[in-house]
Amino acid sequence: MELISMIVPCYNEQETLDDFYQEITVVRDKLSSMGSSLEVIFIDDGSKDRTLEKMRAFAGENPWIKYLSFTRNFGKEAAIYAGLTRGRGDFVGLMDVDLQDPPSLIPKMLAILRDGEYDCVATRRVNRRGEPVIRSFFARAFYKIMRRISDVEIVDGARDYRLMSRRYVDSVLELKEYNRFSKGLFGWVGYRTKWLEYENVERARGETKWSFFKLLKYSIDGIVGFSAAPVRFAAWIGLIFCVLAFIFILVIIARTLIFGDPVAGWPSLVCIILLLSGIQLFCLGLLGEYLSKTYMEVKKRPLYLCKETNLEDED
Ligand code: UDP
Ligand code: MG
Repeated sequence: MELISMIVPCYNEQETLDDFYQEITVVRDKLSSMGSSLEVIFIDDGSKDRTLEKMRAFAGENPWIKYLSFTRNFGKEAAIYAGLTRGRGDFVGLMDVDLQDPPSLIPKMLAILRDGEYDCVATRRVNRRGEPVIRSFFARAFYKIMRRISDVEIVDGARDYRLMSRRYVDSVLELKEYNRFSKGLFGWVGYRTKWLEYENVERARGETKWSFFKLLKYSIDGIVGFSAAPVRFAAWIGLIFCVLAFIFILVIIARTLIFGDPVAGWPSLVCIILLLSGIQLFCLGLLGEYLSKTYMEVKKRPLYLCKETNLEDED
């Protein structure tokens, strides 16, 4: 029978796991009536509450529930990667545990993939109702900038909730980079993706794990990972300032020859020095971002470390 592996990253989700379990059991019955079996792979991303205990209990009662627990919090990207490498299904899906990704959509996604025309069914929310205004504003700005400076299509409002074919997942796993920005990687591999839209659903219980600064860092990772525009921008600024300086030198030489050399203008000099050194430091920082990413890539550290799992050993 066709197998669907659903990957569910969890970080301190003891409040939401029970509700999720209820809903996914219903969906599992629906799927088996469609001729598919479902396995759920919970990834415990180093939770500090009773998340792991709950997973163990669910797995003890249900052979179709698997779990893998990290030694510490490695982040959602690492959890996604761990799940993708461990999921053995003919179709592999990804969803949050907080029921913001309605599990009832899975049968519909499966039906679309079975047709064979698409290799991925992804979801996007059509609005951001219930989200803080500032957060929505910056999120929109991020997607706008990203679309401009990157070749990869990154869809506004895209969630991580998706179901993918085996070959699509294998392609994603061929991208071995350490700094993983999944929203970009999924676009990068190509194939055809069908987008389903739904209204934003608020978190069932518990709290969001994303602070504003975590999101800001995440978006910088996205930009650095998928575009060299910032450093190119730095080079252009440098060039423009060289041209300006050259013109300035000519003007000063001409002025000195014609009017002599009155000593004046140190305030303007201070401003120029401050501006230029500011720009230089900023550009150095940009370079540093890319360099630090390269540094992490070169080290080739594992993306996660597994503390405990009931999944069979890899390969
Ligand atoms: N998550 C994770 N590791 C983290 C942060 C979050 O595995 O470091 C999981 C979390 O448990 C949830 C999903 O990622 O299942 C989405 O997190 P959250 O609901 O907090 O984000 P939001 O929906 O607010 O974007
Ligand atoms: Mg959520």
